[in-house]
Amino acid sequence: MSGSRRAFFRHAALAGAGVLGCPAIVRSATTAATAPDARPRHLIHLVADGTSIGTLTLGDHFSRLHRKTGLRWLDLCRQPAAHTALVNMRSLNSWVTDSAAASSSWSTGSRVVNGVLNQLPDGTNLRPLCSLAAEAGWKRGLVTTTEITHATPAGFAANTDNRGTAEHIALQYLERKIDVLLGGGRKYFEPTRRKDKRDLHAEFARAGYSVLQTASQLAAAPRGQPCLGTFASGHLPFTIDHQASDELRKTVPTLADMTRAALRQLEAAGHFILQVEGGRVDHGAHACDIATAVRDLVAFDDALAICLEFQQRVPDTLLVVTTDHGTANPGLNGTGSGYKETIPLFTNILKATRSFESLEPDLVKNPSAAHLQRLLKEATGYNAPDAKIALVLAAFQKKGQALYSHMNSVEAHLGQLLANHLGVGWTGTSHTADFVPLVAFGPGASRFTGFLQNTDVFRIYTDLAQIDYRNPEAPLLGECQPTADEVETRAAWV
Ligand SMILES: [Zn+2]
Repeated sequence: MSGSRRAFFRHAALAGAGVLGCPAIVRSATTAATAPDARPRHLIHLVADGTSIGTLTLGDHFSRLHRKTGLRWLDLCRQPAAHTALVNMRSLNSWVTDSAAASSSWSTGSRVVNGVLNQLPDGTNLRPLCSLAAEAGWKRGLVTTTEITHATPAGFAANTDNRGTAEHIALQYLERKIDVLLGGGRKYFEPTRRKDKRDLHAEFARAGYSVLQTASQLAAAPRGQPCLGTFASGHLPFTIDHQASDELRKTVPTLADMTRAALRQLEAAGHFILQVEGGRVDHGAHACDIATAVRDLVAFDDALAICLEFQQRVPDTLLVVTTDHGTANPGLNGTGSGYKETIPLFTNILKATRSFESLEPDLVKNPSAAHLQRLLKEATGYNAPDAKIALVLAAFQKKGQALYSHMNSVEAHLGQLLANHLGVGWTGTSHTADFVPLVAFGPGASRFTGFLQNTDVFRIYTDLAQIDYRNPEAPLLGECQPTADEVETRAAWV
């Protein structure tokens, strides 16, 4: 291993431990473990949900301002042994995917309709990666900052025609014996909250799982044992709100903490597949709340640092880092003469201390212009003019009307208002059709290059894991079919 590659990993490991340093310059040699024909023993699939290139770019700018180093995600792209690709994430029925269809496409090699998990329109269930991997003797782990039953983790393990059936998905995790489950969504396991009154915590415990509810329980969990950790009733808090609360920091683990714990549980296995999701980058972007989205992206990047450190220790591990779709596509607009006001404006992002989501209950209690103005000043450092505050209040009272109706929500108004303070504009409030970036590192990484379809990811994973299985596919809705030439070329690549 070259000295510079060691420096890169040392940097990654230090960052994972919360120690900040200058970005390493990386010029590595290809090692045996990253040889093109090598097969991974372990596979880690990292997803920053809803991260368009704009969010990734702003996450890197923010990271440089906030922790004096860029994102490891982009450091990794600069590694000579890393391979990068653009991926078309379209679903069966739309160019714009949701997380259920996106995760299903990686997990089964087959596209499904948005909102559906691993099921074709005729009701045929597809076999997801976690089931196929279990048959091949691989352990399986799912880690997320959303509810553990949410679409992205569920896409690797569950089958349902409705991603919202969280109680059913929780049951499938138990039946399918997913080895490591860490995230939010405790309510879906509690007898008082479930419609069927089943106590899934007790059932998981009887099945041999450690059942965990706090950060300290997670840190003390016995090694090598299956575990179910739910650290919030719903989603885990946004990173920006987590960091601002002593109580939350004490009781709720970060994504990096959960990833470290998952690897500790899975490490003894001959083979494992682990999905790690930074699920709330998407939620910050839906809310046009850039300060919140990029802090969750940095938290995701800290989890990536943990995986890079693991990969250094266990080099026959393939890491794949990607996103499932863009969301609301933020972009930093050039501002001022010669755009020289752009950087000072964006630097205001460091003043943000609360998510838009956390402001809402305060605004409901006292929906006055003066209160909103004060709240915003405290939460973002922006002293918004009266006329603009009046427009946000009108949206809050459902009296407002944006020219683009996607932007009617209070959050979209706040996002546009804050554009004056940060320079960041938005395309809307929903997912977008953008092709997404992917970077792969480790044995088998060279298979991820050029322009891929989301379904190719499944084919590469199963091929590398020597799983000989193909799910059925349904014809794409609303699009011309690929030509025979395109199909042939694609088959040759994958
Ligand atoms: Zn979303």
